[in-house]
Amino acid sequence: MVPSKTLLITGVSSGFGRALAQEALAAGHKVVGTVRSAQARRDFESLCPGSAFGRMLDVTEFDAIDRVVSEIETNIGRIDVLVNNAGYGHEGIMEESPLAEMRRQFDVNVFGAVAMMKAVLPFMRERRRGHILNITSMGGHITMPGIAYYCGSKFALEGISEALSKEVKPFGIAVTAVAPGSFRTDWAGRSMSRTPRSIADYDESFDPIREAREEKNGKQLGDPRKAARAMLTAIAAENPPVHLLLGSDALGLVRRKLSALEDEIRQWESVTVSTDG
Ligand code: NAP
Repeated sequence: MVPSKTLLITGVSSGFGRALAQEALAAGHKVVGTVRSAQARRDFESLCPGSAFGRMLDVTEFDAIDRVVSEIETNIGRIDVLVNNAGYGHEGIMEESPLAEMRRQFDVNVFGAVAMMKAVLPFMRERRRGHILNITSMGGHITMPGIAYYCGSKFALEGISEALSKEVKPFGIAVTAVAPGSFRTDWAGRSMSRTPRSIADYDESFDPIREAREEKNGKQLGDPRKAARAMLTAIAAENPPVHLLLGSDALGLVRRKLSALEDEIRQWESVTVSTDG
């Protein structure tokens, strides 16, 4: 029997957050989930009254985060696991996409997640235990044209997660960056922010990519419930991984990237080492 834990998951209205909350509740854990509407809160709490607790929070309300986390610690109990799941995808050719859309992408996917971590860390450090899972993406390891801001935000969260894992390991706190491939959530549907096209030069390369992503929505390879079970396995592990890929698409693409990177490093090695001394 796995000991019951309290998980704080951001964004439990759909997708991975919802699936993880449901699987965690079914396994006997307590789940506090953040939502952005009163209806979503009611829906979430009705999943498992007494074990599912909704809290209203937009993760870009940075000033509200400390208060929400302290209130949860006081009224619901110690947070054993934080899951920074809330996030969305911006799709658009970089040259066409206003800087404001990059700021918004980083506010939600990076600054929101970091603010959540900074809020739970004092409690976890005092207890000398805890686990933070940051949902990044295979787009935090590999890139594709048309999602430069998204990949940038997920690379940033991967890097921050890895560095933080080294800082807090001495306090018994684990950090895992979870990088899913393509899964059947609302990510490419209602949640995606798409910058309108404006530069004809990109029509040939990008239009088919945008169309393919729209067409694939709902038919992706990955099952979010299985991702949730994989995350629960990582949460239960004595030594959780710092990086966890989810999905055979993520595995293949990231391996290919690492091998291409190694080839390029080797090809340019003499230039690389020519700068010493
Ligand atoms: P989803 O079904 O669209 O769920 C996104 C969740 O995040 C929703 O609950 C949404 O709440 C919440 N959210 C968005 N912006 C927020 C904000 N500013 N403050 C608070 N909550 C916010 O998509 P998903 O795929 O499950 O996304 C979860 C995470 O997985 C994201 O970080 C995404 O980048 C990542 N991911 C997804 C895939 C994939 O293929 N699905 C692959 C790799 C990584 P509302 O309902 O209020 O909008």
